[in-house]
Amino acid sequence: MRSISLINQKGGVGKTTSTANIGASLALLGKRVLLVDVDPQANLSVHFGINIHEIEKSVYHMIMNEAPFDEVVQKTEVGGLDIVPSQIALSGAEIQLVGMVGRETILRDAVAPANGRYDYMLIDCPPSLGLLTLNALTTVKEIFIPLQTEFFALEGMSHLLKTVDLVKKRINHELQITGIIACMYDARTSLAKAVHEKIKEYFGNKVFRTVIRRNIRLAESPSHGQPITLYDRETIGATDYMALAKEVIAQEMPAHEPAAVSQVATPTPSPAPTATAFAQPAPKAAQPTLPTMTTAPPKDRVSNTN
Ligand code: ATP
Ligand code: MG
Repeated sequence: MRSISLINQKGGVGKTTSTANIGASLALLGKRVLLVDVDPQANLSVHFGINIHEIEKSVYHMIMNEAPFDEVVQKTEVGGLDIVPSQIALSGAEIQLVGMVGRETILRDAVAPANGRYDYMLIDCPPSLGLLTLNALTTVKEIFIPLQTEFFALEGMSHLLKTVDLVKKRINHELQITGIIACMYDARTSLAKAVHEKIKEYFGNKVFRTVIRRNIRLAESPSHGQPITLYDRETIGATDYMALAKEVIAQEMPAHEPAAVSQVATPTPSPAPTATAFAQPAPKAAQPTLPTMTTAPPKDRVSNTN
């Protein structure tokens, strides 16, 4: 099972939209998918039509050891797609977790029964780098970072990368950033293009070729409790996420090439370009130092072992 957390401590960048729609598209492509909502806002759960005020058991109860995985996981309207929902009670968990032994790995143990039952597990994180996100990072092998192609896209990135690096060094040695998703792309603006170029300069070949364009149908679909593939599968939002899901599947690597995994390095945390780096014109000398990605293999790939 590939396990992936979608993280960015910046709010409203497309984490939930990407988790929901990559998940639904993967399921449509025949993959068995589990979504885990670890955001107390529970937007992902609402996106799948779950009434978060009525559900009795959520990821909160799983983390608090009050309910096992099988009592919490739910089927969705999408065939092959299950979800562990969240609810507002989870906001208290961050404080309760502080006093618990092994607090960084509680989620990992709680979702262990999912191993072997799914091809993909996608975890939607809250917009913070607190204990819930930390739990998501210790549970998975891969990270996707959705970025909004707007002025402040890379602000705070060095902090995020440092956090990932620390988790990788101390708790979860297998953790890798394997995908950067450019979200809410508006092709009509030169700013979006400039930011997209800067993102590619910064992350190199980790950036998915598929760009998620701005699409009002993507913004509407959560209020109908449906992913875009059900709400309007003809719209560009559906096309973009389907293309992205195919790229995600293309990352899967035949079992006979395991060596490449260790070569896929997490970008060295270094100063991210500041928002002002996108201002035009910028004197060449004032450009921030960007990590070179030349040591990375031609294509980031990951293993698909259980
Ligand atoms: P949070 O940090 O609050 O969890 P998030 O990173 O999960 O936010 P989303 O909830 O996915 O971000 O997106 C923020 C808002 O932008 C939502 O209203 C969503 O419907 C909308 N949105 C996301 N992607 C697109 C898109 N490609 N086109 C138009 N609207 C979008
Ligand atoms: Mg969200």
